[in-house]
Amino acid sequence: MFVKVAIPIPKDRAFDYAVPTQMEEDVAIGKRVLVPFGNKGQTGCIVGVTAVTEIENPKEIIDILDQQPLFDDRDLAFYSWTADYYLYPLGKVLGEILPGLKDRRARTEKVAAASGSASSTTEKLTKKQRLLLKILQEETEVSVAGLCQRLGNVRSTLAAIAKKGLARITDKGAGCPLPPCLTVGEPSGRPAANLSQEAALQEIHGNLRTGQFQTVLLHGVTGSGKTEVYLQAMEEVRRRRGGVIYLVPEIALTPQLLTRLKERFGNENIAVLHSGVSRSVRYDQWQRLRRGEMHMAVGVRSALFAPVRDLRLIIVDEEHDASYKQDDRLPYNARDLAIVKGRLHGATVVLGSATPAVQTCFNARIGKFSCLTMPGRIADRPLPPVEIVDMKMEKALHGEKTFTIFSRRLAAAIGETLDRKQQVMLLLNRRGYHTFQICRDCGHPLKCRNCEVSLTQHAREGVWKCHYCDYTLAGELVCSRCKSANIGAYGMGTERLEEEITNRFPAARIRRMDSDTMDRKGAHEQLLHALGQDRVDILVGTQMISKGHDFPNVTLVGVILADTSLNLPDFRAAERTFQLLTQVSGRGGRGDVPGQVIIQTFNPNHYAIQKARDHDYDGFYAEEISLRQSLFYPPFSRLIHLRVSCIHRDKGEEGSKSLAAKARELLKLARVRGTVEIVGPAEAPLFRLRGRYRWQLLLKGDDSRFLHALTRDILGGFHFPGVQVKVDVDPVHFM
Ligand code: ADP
Ligand code: ZN
Ligand code: ZN
Repeated sequence: MFVKVAIPIPKDRAFDYAVPTQMEEDVAIGKRVLVPFGNKGQTGCIVGVTAVTEIENPKEIIDILDQQPLFDDRDLAFYSWTADYYLYPLGKVLGEILPGLKDRRARTEKVAAASGSASSTTEKLTKKQRLLLKILQEETEVSVAGLCQRLGNVRSTLAAIAKKGLARITDKGAGCPLPPCLTVGEPSGRPAANLSQEAALQEIHGNLRTGQFQTVLLHGVTGSGKTEVYLQAMEEVRRRRGGVIYLVPEIALTPQLLTRLKERFGNENIAVLHSGVSRSVRYDQWQRLRRGEMHMAVGVRSALFAPVRDLRLIIVDEEHDASYKQDDRLPYNARDLAIVKGRLHGATVVLGSATPAVQTCFNARIGKFSCLTMPGRIADRPLPPVEIVDMKMEKALHGEKTFTIFSRRLAAAIGETLDRKQQVMLLLNRRGYHTFQICRDCGHPLKCRNCEVSLTQHAREGVWKCHYCDYTLAGELVCSRCKSANIGAYGMGTERLEEEITNRFPAARIRRMDSDTMDRKGAHEQLLHALGQDRVDILVGTQMISKGHDFPNVTLVGVILADTSLNLPDFRAAERTFQLLTQVSGRGGRGDVPGQVIIQTFNPNHYAIQKARDHDYDGFYAEEISLRQSLFYPPFSRLIHLRVSCIHRDKGEEGSKSLAAKARELLKLARVRGTVEIVGPAEAPLFRLRGRYRWQLLLKGDDSRFLHALTRDILGGFHFPGVQVKVDVDPVHFM
């Protein structure tokens, strides 16, 4: 007997191996095996079982690593489709999406101070023990692995204080599939659906009954009750004993959702899949889903690959969110693949958003998706009025030379909101303190050593950091051109905003939410909890604050500078800006008190900003779609992006030109179907990144199959020493 094994190597090939007779019984598609490869073994995945092979001397597999298969034939069909479409080797696809082999050592232990541990026994502790205990008392519960990362191996010290009864070590991983954050939030019960929810559910339930593939766009304004529709649709699926995949952009930001899920469906039936879940738990959950012991998978984009049985429903919440696109390794888009998987399984796919992607809305309008709208908020709460403040006028009126952070309008509104004992959210989509530096003596802008990017000052840590490669400089900055230490720092990130607002409103309780302050596990939950309990007056943050939260006492939302995302070299810049402004506006006025939104901008007449002010999705769509059509951009064309990079500038440039020449040559020879344009090669907007020079070549065409075939031909046999070419099908990020 022979097996076809896909190995994670760049060449897209599966190899035939012979199975030793004593192993034959255990062979099945979906198991991982160890095979001889190179001078070491290699882990691969069985993708076929045959009685004959054309290979002359097939090698034998060494070992079978999984007791149970990780996926079945239909899952494999999906993974193969993914590999084909994204022009990525199947072996590598499998290597990336399958959960890691079971860890030998569970990395899920947690430790917490025991209650009453500040007693007199602490006298007899060593210095190290006392230090650890102090940390535990301050931080409620931390992971043992995390502590060891911070402080070196402290397992024995922890064991010692645990033995004295001062701390508790628990293994939160093994028996508990849901993360401990589930305790945040109050039980909300199950509301009766309102009219528009009822209409949406009728359509979705009708679909579920027929068991036919269908994609449904659920376009509902923020707070219209979309999540409730998802939950009731899931209940319907469970009544029919089917399975569900529920994707969210980021799970740490949605503890309220997990609470609601747990209330409806209990703990036992839901696998929560995201990068914070340990490998062993992920592996267990994957197996339980595949065996049909669990029926629902909730998670970030990678949860789409979970082998849910009898899959009837796939939900993609906030379908417009760019985080459904993975950029490194396998560059897939989980929103698009959800539709492919739905088709393979005959499932209903629900794409939900208050601001659907232009592409999604287009598909709904041409009848590819059915479209359900929920135009009003729950309980007829009004959408908050949005005001635009023109910062050019502000500057002129003030006569200030420096940049004004708060317009008088926004400053006054913050003051009034605080007086009313209500909460404020302030959005600024940039982290750090100062965001760029210029030499005052010679005018040279200071850049990262590895990237063509300004460094960002992080004042509290006392460092300058590159946000692309993590290169970090401590101490005094010196100009790399003239060696002067007379460096001017400018620009504003959330850290500086936090400081400015503290100076301005010293009595307010201010917290910041960005990836700098939220990197500790559980930090989100704690902050959201504090916000829910009115222990925070002003929340400052990046786009993180625009996502999913539902806080009734937030009545003022301020956008410090709407222009940050508007001027990016990306055909979706306007779309992103509109979405961000609409989403963050939707955070206001979700309770009984009406809210208001103030947007500061230097481009008050831009349609993305104006339409966001008017809560006018259709108006935005109309402007945007006609621009896309005139520029032959998606949804009117398909894009494939080829990224060329090299550590040597000359060689890279030569490589990119040679790739482009080959592309044009092949295009000339091919019998072109439809329209194809080749743009470039051009230097990437971030010309140098992590030490590599970068170019891009963009293929635009209106026939996806032809574009794929052309790309395969272009890449086939293309080799330029030292030059790397990466393919990105349907690119989302263009930097
Ligand atoms: P969305 O996902 O569209 O932002 P949610 O489903 O989270 O909206 O609903 C917003 C709020 O309204 C939540 O607190 C939710 O519990 C509540 N809600 C949803 N549907 C109903 C309903 N039919 N009746 C009463 N409250 C509801
Ligand atoms: Zn860098
Ligand atoms: Zn200088």
